[in-house]
Amino acid sequence: MAKVYAFVNQKGGVGKTTTAINLGACLVDHRKQVIIIDLDAQGNATSYLGFDRNSIKSGTYSVLTQPRADLAENTLHNATFECSLMPASPALAGAEVELVDEPDRVNRLQKALGQAHGYDYVLIDCPPSLGLLTLNGLVAAQAVVIPIQCEYLALEGLGQLLDTVYRVRRSFNSELRIRGLLMTMFDKRVNLSRQVVEEVRRHFPGRVFRTVIPRNVRLAEAPSHSMPIASYDPSSSGALAYASLAKEILEGDGIERPSPV
Ligand code: ATP
Ligand code: MG
Repeated sequence: MAKVYAFVNQKGGVGKTTTAINLGACLVDHRKQVIIIDLDAQGNATSYLGFDRNSIKSGTYSVLTQPRADLAENTLHNATFECSLMPASPALAGAEVELVDEPDRVNRLQKALGQAHGYDYVLIDCPPSLGLLTLNGLVAAQAVVIPIQCEYLALEGLGQLLDTVYRVRRSFNSELRIRGLLMTMFDKRVNLSRQVVEEVRRHFPGRVFRTVIPRNVRLAEAPSHSMPIASYDPSSSGALAYASLAKEILEGDGIERPSPV
């Protein structure tokens, strides 16, 4: 059965999309079948994978708004990344409003992913909010990966995010667990970066990935070339970090198996 991970943080710009795509690409390098679900109307994952979001006609929007939508019909394939994508279109911005009266509105993605046969990893790139789109991601996922930027007030909002995870676990998805907190944009020249990592490890012992993603300009450049960092600059610190994260995920031993909290 596929592992389904949601990349979640209601804070914007913390590295959710960069992580979903580059971790996905590293998992492909390990011969895993990967599908990225773009749950964000910004469509950054869709653009990163080289598709013009404005010309997308099907994808996540159709899957969420049409109860019997076919997964394969709403999936694209990227030959460079050798992975599949459920793309986001601009229409996705209206999905939350359209779904508001639907009784199964939080389960739509989960239902569609029931058709996700043949994949080893389903990686859900959530938007920077805790609204209905992210809820669909949390209900569909087995576990969440929470990227946290190494900056001042890194933990701000995390309580609310964890509350949402626990609420989803109680009401909709008892299997949902926290796969790990991922420290991103670490700058080794800045003391604050080190302090933030220490603080987060202190608050969440055993739940923070060993791998820390450095701030690396090559990671910011790679999307405009529609290349995974592993191909764009294989020796960059960003490429090495995502390769290490993929190993940690695959080994499953980077964090203690979380007990319910
Ligand atoms: P949003 O909340 O808007 O969806 P996000 O959490 O998905 O944002 P990204 O889009 O992955 O965040 O990253 C935000 C910006 O920072 C992007 O321009 C990305 O290229 C850049 N970036 C991400 N990770 C790094 C990094 N480790 N080093 C340098 N730049 C990075
Ligand atoms: Mg994003």
